[in-house]
Amino acid sequence: MQEKSSLNIAIVGAGLGGLVAALSLARNGHHVQLFERRPTFEPKGGGIMIRPVATYFLRQWGLKADMEDISDVSQATLYRDGGTGKVFVRRKNEMVFDDNLDWGCFREDAQKVFHKHALQHGVKFRFGVSVTDVSEDDTTAKVHLSTGEVIEADLLLAADGFLSRLRPKILSDAPAPAPGYSTIYQIRLSEDEVLANPDARELANNTDLSVWMKRAGGGYAVIRCNKTVHRLSGAFGIPERDDDPRMWDENGDIEYVRNYFKGYSKALTSFLQIAKRCDRWRLAEMPNLPQWISPKGRLVLLGDSAHAMLPDAAQGFSTIVEDVGVLSHLLSKHLHRGVPSLTRIWQEVRQPRVNKIKDWAKSNHVLYTKGTDDGLKSGEKTKTPPTQDISLDKVVPDMNASYRSPAFFKWAFGFDPIEDVERYIEKRDMARL
Ligand SMILES: Cc1cc2nc3c(=O)[nH]c(=O)nc-3n(C[C@H](O)[C@H](O)[C@H](O)COP(=O)(O)OP(=O)(O)OC[C@H]3O[C@@H](n4cnc5c(N)ncnc54)[C@H](O)[C@@H]3O)c2cc1C
Repeated sequence: MQEKSSLNIAIVGAGLGGLVAALSLARNGHHVQLFERRPTFEPKGGGIMIRPVATYFLRQWGLKADMEDISDVSQATLYRDGGTGKVFVRRKNEMVFDDNLDWGCFREDAQKVFHKHALQHGVKFRFGVSVTDVSEDDTTAKVHLSTGEVIEADLLLAADGFLSRLRPKILSDAPAPAPGYSTIYQIRLSEDEVLANPDARELANNTDLSVWMKRAGGGYAVIRCNKTVHRLSGAFGIPERDDDPRMWDENGDIEYVRNYFKGYSKALTSFLQIAKRCDRWRLAEMPNLPQWISPKGRLVLLGDSAHAMLPDAAQGFSTIVEDVGVLSHLLSKHLHRGVPSLTRIWQEVRQPRVNKIKDWAKSNHVLYTKGTDDGLKSGEKTKTPPTQDISLDKVVPDMNASYRSPAFFKWAFGFDPIEDVERYIEKRDMARL
């Protein structure tokens, strides 16, 4: 079926996923409307890492200068003993993908940048409007709003988050989300208040991402200083089966977190003493879905609604940026193939990579909380890692290598999603000749 050269696209949700989809698609000339149930634009949240492949796309979309105003670059990831603070492995972040490195920033700052660029590209935002239902026929997606209106579009992207209400309307057999293994307590502190504390000061003196874990397992922490905005973010993970049904709460119990981490390194306990409050984030993930698209291919699950993952590889948002990059590319370079065919190609290309990264995130969670790799699908056991820098130069990327290997890191951070989809299309076309 012949499509127009620019599409009417409806997006549900102004989270990180909906915002980047909106700006990227509008930048390519599509007419984008975004519906968000919250009454106003409310940027919020703790620290977030943007990994090299995602950094590449954000730069391509003209966000480099604005992102550099809110981010700094992580030179390395340090794995540290939670009790002594000793660094037992330092993985250098190398430019494995077209000069891109990790950006560390705060979620609320990134949301503001994405919102600003989406507006500049002409995205029409409607806040305070819930999408209550969606349907499709061969040519159109229909979007039912809480106002009673029904909007027609060529394509609908449901970026309505992990607890997506649209998922069962798009997939008849969507499995239930899986409850989390741990709760994360998020803290933000100013650089000045951390520097003023002699026992915590070292945390404000470098911008590497530090992961603190005990070899015997238990709680773990991820801390990073952002020198550009002079703020530190800390995420403290406590393995627990939390019966509280809320996924996110601005009022975590800081005293509970301090008590749990008693006996950890002085820098961590001092960081917690400085904090006056924390947010609480119950972890959860989606089982791998058989489909991310509806039967006629015009209704698409995007972001956490399709593949929410544990945060322990810092890849949830970054994989969404990759998804958006590939979808945007398909809808501008291959639109003659028709939307349903393109969303199917997109799903087939993206699912294997994202499912692998989800599994890696889960394996990191097991490593951080149990202290060993026992029980991982790969069957690998923890080896004492070397203390020296691990270089990725000359390493051949391999998605099937062990999750702690340089070959796997190179695949994760040096991947070219556009080359990947183009290769897939070429093979598919050849097979049909
Ligand atoms: C503790 C933690 C740390 C993380 N750290 C990282 C990291 O370092 N790097 C990384 O890449 N990722 C990270 N992630 C993952 C990342 O935060 C998520 O993958 C990402 O925020 C998901 O965005 P989303 O837009 O899909 O969903 P959401 O952010 O959940 O947005 C969904 C939006 O849809 C709206 N909505 C819902 N239903 C409707 C409806 N019916 N009508 C209209 N609007 C609706 C909601 O109000 C909301 O605004 C982390 C996650 C956690 C929990």
